[in-house]
Amino acid sequence: MKVKVISVLEDNYMYLVIEEGTRDAVAVDAAVPKRLLEIIRREDVVLRAVLTTHHHWDHARGNEELAKLRPGLRVYGADERIGALTHRVAHGEELAFGAIRVRCLLTPGHTSGHACYFMWEDESPDAPALFSGDALLVGGCGKLCEGTAEQMYASLAGVLGALPKETKVFCGHEYAVRNLKFALKVEPENEIVKQKLAWAKRRDDEDLPAVPSTLQEEFLYNPFLRVAEEPLRKFTGKTDPVEVLRTLCAEKDNFKKPKERPNPQAMLALEWGLLSPFLEKK
Ligand SMILES: [Zn+2]
Repeated sequence: MKVKVISVLEDNYMYLVIEEGTRDAVAVDAAVPKRLLEIIRREDVVLRAVLTTHHHWDHARGNEELAKLRPGLRVYGADERIGALTHRVAHGEELAFGAIRVRCLLTPGHTSGHACYFMWEDESPDAPALFSGDALLVGGCGKLCEGTAEQMYASLAGVLGALPKETKVFCGHEYAVRNLKFALKVEPENEIVKQKLAWAKRRDDEDLPAVPSTLQEEFLYNPFLRVAEEPLRKFTGKTDPVEVLRTLCAEKDNFKKPKERPNPQAMLALEWGLLSPFLEKK
């Protein structure tokens, strides 16, 4: 099973999962249909279905167009608000596309109808993959837009926490650096947070994705999976894991956003004095 990581929009990930023997493929969060179809053509695979994690536009916006371009396409999701939905999945429901096996996991918290997709291939030595949308992110979790801290805790600690630790995590956004900066604020002494942040910054500099991580690693540096640990209790001043998570989500919402990077071309032009006529007009 091969996973193509496709960077779209500002910082979203769309994925194409390919069964290499049969050339069957499944797309996750097909937000940019033309780009997806171009890759499908190039890879010479057959798109069997689209799996959508949640109804937010940056994950589901391409479904209608894709369904028009590919009549009969099956679109799976756990929320009626997902565009072009043909099959509403239930928690624990299993799907098969060729040799690709999928278990649908309902993980409310970010939205009320959020689903994650756990995928594996029978008789394959490859680790299973989790497509976690905006539930679990590298070093963080999605905002509580519609759900409660109780739901997010049950989704992260209960549902996703029960998956095999070697599971590769493919999330919906590239927020690793920002999330890990927050993780370092929460746990300034955590060496693994420091190492992962330094690694994520290098990846970012090279314009490479920080996905996938593994569940095992996430439990070592992701504060939202570490709500029962002592440093998290200390940071939040709470002991109940749900209360720790609630406080953490509120703190994260207020965490400063990184400064906008100046456009490199504009900086260069400025250095060469090309922008000075415009600047002087002011
Ligand atoms: Zn979202």
